[in-house]
This record gives sequence, C-alpha cells and structure tokens, in this order.
Amino acid sequence: MSRKRQPAEPYRIKSVEPIKLLNKVQREQRLKEANYNVFKIDAPDIYIDLLTDSGTTAMSNRQWAALMLGDESYAGATSFRRFERVVRELTQKKFVIPCHQGRAAENLLFSTMLKPGQFVPNNTHFDTTRANTLHKGGIAVDLPCPVSTSDEILNFKGNMDIAQLEEFLIKHGPEKIPLVIMTITNNSVGGQPVSMRNIRETSELCKSHGIPFFFDCARFAENAFFIKRDEPGYSDKTIEEIAHEMFSYCDGTMMSAKKDGLANIGGFISINDGDLYRRLTELLIVVEGFPTYGGLAGRDLDVLAVGLQEVLDFDYLDFRIDQVKYFGEKIKAAGIPIVEPTGGHAVFVDAGAFLPHIPAHQFPGQALACAFYLEGGVRVVEMGSLMFGGVDPNTGKKFTASRELVRMALPRRVYTNSHLDYIAEAAENIVANKDQLAGFKIVSQAALLRHFTCDLQMLSREEVGVE
Ligand SMILES: *Cc1c(COP(=O)(O)O)cnc(C)c1O
Repeated sequence: MSRKRQPAEPYRIKSVEPIKLLNKVQREQRLKEANYNVFKIDAPDIYIDLLTDSGTTAMSNRQWAALMLGDESYAGATSFRRFERVVRELTQKKFVIPCHQGRAAENLLFSTMLKPGQFVPNNTHFDTTRANTLHKGGIAVDLPCPVSTSDEILNFKGNMDIAQLEEFLIKHGPEKIPLVIMTITNNSVGGQPVSMRNIRETSELCKSHGIPFFFDCARFAENAFFIKRDEPGYSDKTIEEIAHEMFSYCDGTMMSAKKDGLANIGGFISINDGDLYRRLTELLIVVEGFPTYGGLAGRDLDVLAVGLQEVLDFDYLDFRIDQVKYFGEKIKAAGIPIVEPTGGHAVFVDAGAFLPHIPAHQFPGQALACAFYLEGGVRVVEMGSLMFGGVDPNTGKKFTASRELVRMALPRRVYTNSHLDYIAEAAENIVANKDQLAGFKIVSQAALLRHFTCDLQMLSREEVGVE
C-alpha cells in the first residue's frame, strides 16, 4: 500500500506567474492595515494563497487552446454544443443548463423545486446551498453519518446517515421533501468522500419514496478517486467508469465547476425531466442568460468541456490526493494537529487543540491564520467560531462553533511540493513560538457571513483567556 515517495507532478510548466514574499515588517503592517482579517489583504501581498480551491485552478495547454475556439454567438453557439456533449456523456442526463457558478445553479433549482416550509435533506449542506435553501423558505437538514466528526481514521466519513434519512423520509414524505441532495465530496465535513454503496443506498431509498435525488458534485472526480482507492470492488475500474456509475444513481446534478471543472468560473445543472427543464430555462433566461450560454462566455464553456474530461485522468488525481496527504503529514510533523484522514481538497488544522490557551470566543483559528501570514506570507482561512459562531438574534447570547479549525485549501495544479515544504517550515517556526500567540476580539461585524468583512483587534497578553 504505502509508497516510498509521493508521485511527482504529472505535468510540466509552460507559463509562470511570479509571486513575491514581502519582508516581515511589511507583512506585519499589511496585517494591521487589514485589521487582522486575511480576506482584506490584497492578493499581490500574499506569497502562497491557500484561501480556497475554488476558481483558482491553473489551466492546461489544451484549455488555453480551447479558449481561442470560443464561439460567442448569443444563441446556438458551437461552444455550448461541445460543453453539452461532455456534460451529457459524463452525467448521463438529457438536458444541460449552463450557469455562471454553483450558487446560480442552486438558486435556479431551489426557486423551481422548493416551496416555503419544505425540507431538503443533505449529507451536509455547503454554506451557499444552505443559504439558498433558506432564501426560498426551505429548511436545510444535515444528515452526515455518525463517524463524520470522529477522530478515528476511517474511509468515507462524508457518507449520508442512511438510517436517519429513512426515518426522515418516512416521517415527512414527498409532499414535504421535494428533493434529497448528496454533496460529493462532502465539503463541510473536510472534503471527505462518499462511498458508492452509500450513494446507491441513498438512491434506492429516494426511489422507494418517490423523491428526486440530486448531486451537488463540485468534487465528483476527487470522490471517484477515493472510491477506486478505498472501496472494495473498484480498484480495477477507471475513474470514468466510476464517475458514470455514481451519476447513474441520481436524477439530476448541480455543479460548481470552479472545482473539478478545472476552470476559473462556471457551473451547470443536468437532468432528465423535460418539464423541470422547461421551468428551469424560463427562469434561467430571466436571471442568468439564454440557455446556450447561461451567464458564461462561449470560451468559458469550451474551457469547461476540456477541464471536465482532463479531471478524469488517474495520474492527475493520484498526484492531487497524495499531495494533500503529503502536505497534511508535513504540517502534523511540524507539530500542528490536523484532521485525519485528509480529504480531497484541503488540510484542516485543529487550532483549538493547538492553542489551548486561547478560548473559542477569542478565535484560536484566527490567531493561527494570522500567524501563517506573519511567519510566511501564507493565506489560510479560519473555519471556527469566527466563521460559524455569532450572536443569537433571539436571545442576544454569543455562541461558538463546535470545532476551531483552519482550512489550508490546495488550488489545482498551482503549487509544487517545494511550496508546501516552505509552508511546513513556517509551521515549525509558529510551533516554536506558539505560546506568544494571542487571541482576538471583533470590533465591527456584519449580521451575516461576518468573517468576510469583520475588523479584529489583537488582545494583549493580559486579556488572553479572560472571559
Ligand atoms: C463551491 C461549492 C458550491 C458553491 O459554488 P460557487 O461556484 O462558489 O457558487 C456549492 N456546493 C459545493 C459542494 C461547493 O463546494
């Protein structure tokens, strides 16, 4: 099983984008000017940016070439036909609706399928999926498998809790549940994959209750790789065969193609239901664009048509998933605890365990995120009480998150392993001085999604740990 070394990058570099490391005094100043919110630091002041894997992909030579073939006709463009053929073949659905990104697909689908007061079960809603459900008056129900948050190293922690789903479907039925969604990979549970068996069982359950089953499949190819590697019976199948089997179990898909589409923008819905297609396209024309471009340029559709095929390459996925694992092991070896096993697109660091002297309400994850910028010019994102905590509008009481995590997302095909070694070295320096790290307090914040725009103040040594 175990390999001596990580496979080397299965590509060579033809075009480079210079990056620059500011000196420590400059970094300290940038951080202060940003009021310790890394979203407010300008990109040129970042040396290595692990803020997200969304829309940050490096395109291939084939994609750059496809860009020139873009047909910018308003209606019936050849770019759309190429895109449509690829998505049809991949997801095996008759109708393909292009959208400018994942949340546009969510908006279209939920506006059309969801009535106020109805439930949408999901293995775990991604933030925008949850927000779009709530926006239509729906109720987002998360049913992750019980081991999804355990510390045990297990495969397929992204699974749906089948027993709970069955209970829920029996209790509420198709009148109250317009669709069930499977998020692949399960982003909010650390990019953990879902097994083929779990997909099949969820599909059968939905069928027996007459409820449509949809995929939210931003990272379907990464998921297919985990099935090939870890699920009995799949090691001899190709990624394409596995993806086809996955999609054969669902009635429809929505995808943010900014991830496994290997593109910087884009998304889609694919379905077999002709009546649903008609209703979706009526709305599409009002909010996104004509059905043969859906808010994208023709060239974007061509880039996606190539990217959605390239992402099925075993060597690419083997390198990608192993790179995430390699990075996780380096961070752990430096002395910062991580969530294991590592998933498909990021390493999650347990800042709460790493900085026990900083309580949740003083944001240990933010302290660590700021330390990575200060120490190495590296941008990572807090996913703890700054992002998920807040003030209860009913009681006025402050609440914190269940875990204080920091996400280090890896853009696709962008950074080499020496970049990651550099970050691991910065991590060692952070570990050596961890007792010096202080918490934060919020000085101004928005009512919703406060982490994007809030201003923070660093606490003095005396204030750390004080309620
Ligand atoms: C990124 C993502 C979305 C939202 O897509 P955008 O392209 O950012 O609008 C929805 N679901 C999942 C699982 C995602 O990862």
